[in-house]
Amino acid sequence: MPSRWVADLLSDTLTQPTQAMRLAMAEAPVGDDVFGEDPTVAELESRVAELLGHEAGLFTPTGSMANQLGMRLHVEAGQEVIADSLAHVLRAELGAAAVLSGISSRSWASERGRLEPDAPLGLMSVGAGPYQVSTALIVLENTHNFGGGTIQSLEAIREVRAASQTAGVAMHLDGARLWNAHVATGIPLADYGREFDTVSVCLSKGLGAPVGSVLVGSREHMERARIWRKRFGGGMRQVGILAAAGLHALDHHIERLADDHARAARFASAVGAVAPSVVSPELVETNIVMLDVSETRWAPAELVDAAGARGIRAYAAGPRAVRLVWHLDVDDAATDAATEVFTDLLA
Ligand SMILES: *Cc1c(COP(=O)(O)O)cnc(C)c1O
Repeated sequence: MPSRWVADLLSDTLTQPTQAMRLAMAEAPVGDDVFGEDPTVAELESRVAELLGHEAGLFTPTGSMANQLGMRLHVEAGQEVIADSLAHVLRAELGAAAVLSGISSRSWASERGRLEPDAPLGLMSVGAGPYQVSTALIVLENTHNFGGGTIQSLEAIREVRAASQTAGVAMHLDGARLWNAHVATGIPLADYGREFDTVSVCLSKGLGAPVGSVLVGSREHMERARIWRKRFGGGMRQVGILAAAGLHALDHHIERLADDHARAARFASAVGAVAPSVVSPELVETNIVMLDVSETRWAPAELVDAAGARGIRAYAAGPRAVRLVWHLDVDDAATDAATEVFTDLLA
């Protein structure tokens, strides 16, 4: 179904499966995955695990379920997870870790979601005994969604890993957009992946699959996660039909993320040139552009409405920000149109 928007920059979850992807889905060999008999799911799980430098993988319907399984594996009820205050696991999973797993949480403040090692390491509470909550897990997010597509530095991650591992605290990566960090930096996915006990990645964001995420970790962790996935209601049957979309995306939609990054950068420099307080182009690292409208005459919702009236859809993200996200279904022409509308409204 063609979009009614000239440029739909609401989210990179909106992509329509391509014709080639639909064909791959239609032709996928399938079996009952609850019995471990779907060859396409097995192929996807092992390919993603290998890409990320881990032993095994587990296909999940959503990134939230993959993150919840990751947290469940490392944190006992009554222990805590720590993450930055803008993290998806704390802000956008509706308290699932507390509701489903009895997990307590605390957070540190960050600038645009960027990891400063002292923040988690200073917050971490190890062996707190019978008096305080003990930290069992640190969750990092790369790239950082609400931070505006921020890429985490591998050196910073390694510093946190070294200190937390010594302290016996596990690490989980919410890598919904790890693909974008990999393409933007050229750092192999496995170099990021190996620093964590478990990693979740989304197939349904920039990669353009209709559904699906993969959790990776050790074989033993994935065996336990498989049990909890079933318990959470995520045991799926002939789901190779969806895994096939993920395999197709791995083959065809990773390298092209560079196009999304280039278009987002081009948009940001044009808007930054006419409205320097609104966006600093050097802060646009991947496919997400955050506009800060606090020094303009616009409230976020009003700017979104004005752009919407001219065919450009964006997202009002809090009291001062408007978010735009580039993806598979936004080409150069749509980027030009969005640039014209926003430079016009913000000049
Ligand atoms: C989209 C996203 C997820 C997973 O979201 P689902 O809608 O549950 O698939 C997890 N983390 C981040 C950072 C995301 O952007």
